[in-house]
Amino acid sequence: MASSLFNFCKKQKQIHFDKNFITYISRPEKIIKVFLPLKKDSGKIQIFTGYRIQHNSLLGPYKGGLRYHLKVNEEKFKKLSILMTLKCALFNLPFGGAKGGIKVSPKKLSEKELEKLTRIYTRKIASDIGPEKDVPAPDVGTNPLVMSWIYDEYSKIVKEKTPAVVTGKPENIGGLKIRETSTSLGGAYILEKVIEKLQLSKKNLTIAIQGFGNVGANLAMILQNKGFLIKCASDSSCGVCHENGLDTRKLNEAKINTKTVCDGCPICQSSESSDILEMPCDILVPAALEKQITAKNAHKIKTKIILEMANHAITEEAEKILIKKGIVVIPDVLANGGGVIGSYFEWLDNLNKYVKNKEQKLKNIMGKTFDEVWAKKTKYNLDFRSACFCVALKRLEKKYKTIFS
Ligand code: NAD
Repeated sequence: MASSLFNFCKKQKQIHFDKNFITYISRPEKIIKVFLPLKKDSGKIQIFTGYRIQHNSLLGPYKGGLRYHLKVNEEKFKKLSILMTLKCALFNLPFGGAKGGIKVSPKKLSEKELEKLTRIYTRKIASDIGPEKDVPAPDVGTNPLVMSWIYDEYSKIVKEKTPAVVTGKPENIGGLKIRETSTSLGGAYILEKVIEKLQLSKKNLTIAIQGFGNVGANLAMILQNKGFLIKCASDSSCGVCHENGLDTRKLNEAKINTKTVCDGCPICQSSESSDILEMPCDILVPAALEKQITAKNAHKIKTKIILEMANHAITEEAEKILIKKGIVVIPDVLANGGGVIGSYFEWLDNLNKYVKNKEQKLKNIMGKTFDEVWAKKTKYNLDFRSACFCVALKRLEKKYKTIFS
C-alpha cells in the first residue's frame, strides 16, 4: 500500500499532489516489533511476535486497532495503518493512523494466557502509547476485555488511571455503549446516502451480508429496522438465504447461543459461507475479512452496490472488474468510518470533554464527509475510493505544508 499510495498520488491527472508530500506520506513514521515470552498454563515458554506500526501523526495522536491473528505480519499492519491515516483524515478527526497486534490464534490460548500476553505486550509498547501519543482499539481477535487489560496495565506503569489510552473499553470503565454499534450505524447511514443519490427505493432492495459478527450482525439488524430485506447472511461456518428475508434478530440469537448462524433459520436455503458473495442481490456487504473479492470471483458478483465494511475486502484488481461491470463500490475507508468516530467520542469523554448527542453527531460527521466525497467524485469523475483518498490526502497535504514549509 505504501507504493500503491505513492502510485495513486502520482497517477492523479486532475489533482496535483506535492512531490515531497507524496514521498513523506508513503512511509510509516515508526515500526515497532517486539518479542513476547509467555509462560503458558503448562509451564512451557512460547515466544510471540507483537507489532505496532505508527504510520502518520500529522493530524494528531496515532489511532488504530489491535489485531490478534495468525495471519498478520509487518506488511499487513503497514497497509492497515495507512488506511487508518486516510480514514481519520477523511473524517477530519484529530488523529493519525496506526495498526498493530500479535501473531497469535487467541482461540488457542486460555483467558489467563491471553491476559498475560496482552499485559506483556502493553509493557513492551508502553512508552510508545498514551492518550496524546497512540490510542489503540479492538480489531479482529481482540475485544473490550482485551482493552480493559491494556488500560489497567498501562495505568499501573504510568501510576495514574488513564482510560483514554485505549478505546473500545467495557462501559463500566469508560467505554461507550454506542461504540459497539457505531461502525454499523455509520455504514447504514452512508448506504442510505448512496441510495438517495442513485434515486433507488430501499423498500425493494435485497441485501446479502458476508460475516455475521459484530459489524455484520448489527448492520443487518439496523438495516432490517429501516425496511431493507436481508436476503442472505453468512459466517465462517455457513450461509443462510431466504427470498422473503431473514429474521436478523433470531439469526443473531443463534449466533450468540451456538456461535453460528447455521441454526438461526431452519427453513432457509443453506450454503457454503463463500457462496454468499455470488448470490444475486442489490447490495452486497463484505463484513468478514480482507481479500474476499478478488480477480477470481469479481466477475461472478451479481449486485448493484457493494458496501465494503471489512477493511481491504476487495483487491485492487477486483475493484477494476467491479467498476467495469457498473457496480458501485462504497470503500472501507468511508463505509466503516463510524467505528473510529465512536472511538473519538470515547476518547473525548475519557479526557473529560464530554460529547452530547453522540448518535446525531456521528451522523453529522459522516454526512458532511459523504457530501465532500460526492462533490469530489462528481467534479473529477472519480470512483468512490479515489474520491475518498483525494479528500483525505488533500487534508493531510495542507497540514504538511503548514508544518514543513
Ligand atoms: P468479528 O470477528 O466480530 O466478525 C467477523 C465475522 O466474520 C465472524 O462472524 C466470522 O465467523 C465471519 N467470517 C470469517 N471468515 C468468514 C468467511 N470466509 N465467510 C463468511 N464469514 C466469515 O469482527 P468485526 O468486528 O465484525 O469486524 C469485521 C470486519 O470489519 C473486519 O475486517 C474489521 O477489520 C472491520 N472493521 C471493524 C470495526 C469494528 O468496529 N468492529 C471497525 C472498522 C472495521
